[in-house]
Amino acid sequence: MKVQPVNPQDPNPNLRFLEEVSAKTAGVSRLEMCIQCGTCGGSCPCSADMDHTPRMLFAMIRAGFREQALRSNTPWICVSCYHCVVRCPQDVHITDVMYTLKSMAVRSGYYADSPSWKINKTAADFSGSFIKNVNEYGRSWEAGLATVHSLKHFPLRAPNMAPMGLGMWSKKRLNITPKRIKGIEQLQAILKRANELEVS
Ligand code: SF4
Ligand code: SF4
Repeated sequence: MKVQPVNPQDPNPNLRFLEEVSAKTAGVSRLEMCIQCGTCGGSCPCSADMDHTPRMLFAMIRAGFREQALRSNTPWICVSCYHCVVRCPQDVHITDVMYTLKSMAVRSGYYADSPSWKINKTAADFSGSFIKNVNEYGRSWEAGLATVHSLKHFPLRAPNMAPMGLGMWSKKRLNITPKRIKGIEQLQAILKRANELEVS
């Protein structure tokens, strides 16, 4: 895939990478407060599968390694458990930064031009399907999401998931058909506006 520069007009965008990641993060990222203690990586249940621990990733961002950071599989491996966030001595909003990096990686195209592109692309597809669910129904429709994702990316594994799905359905933990929330039109209007603000 051809990689698109984030801002072709900017002669040296790497110098402003930390600032940019912070600005794109919802609320306050506190990324500049990171003291590189490593508590986040040591607390993370998924760090063994990450190509860079959160601490390393934040050092790369600070050093302006834009491409390397946006090609990393770390944000895609993160499961948003918030374990690192509650243990970070500097109150860095690590999980929120991971969401920002995912969004930036997709917009720049780097996520698919990475040694971990299979992981990154599969996870990005899952995020895309989740967002479609929320746009359409106002909530996640797990049965549809799992079926579409499994058939697309892991077709041979899909039949093995059926017993678990049936077990959840029998205990009323899974809806076979999607259910729209009340007031979906208002939510769709909010999401549309948020999308416009993010793009502009
Ligand atoms: S725990 Fe917080 S301060 Fe320590 S390396 Fe991670 S983000 Fe930085
Ligand atoms: S939120 Fe993400 S980075 Fe933090 S501990 Fe959980 S999986 Fe690891």
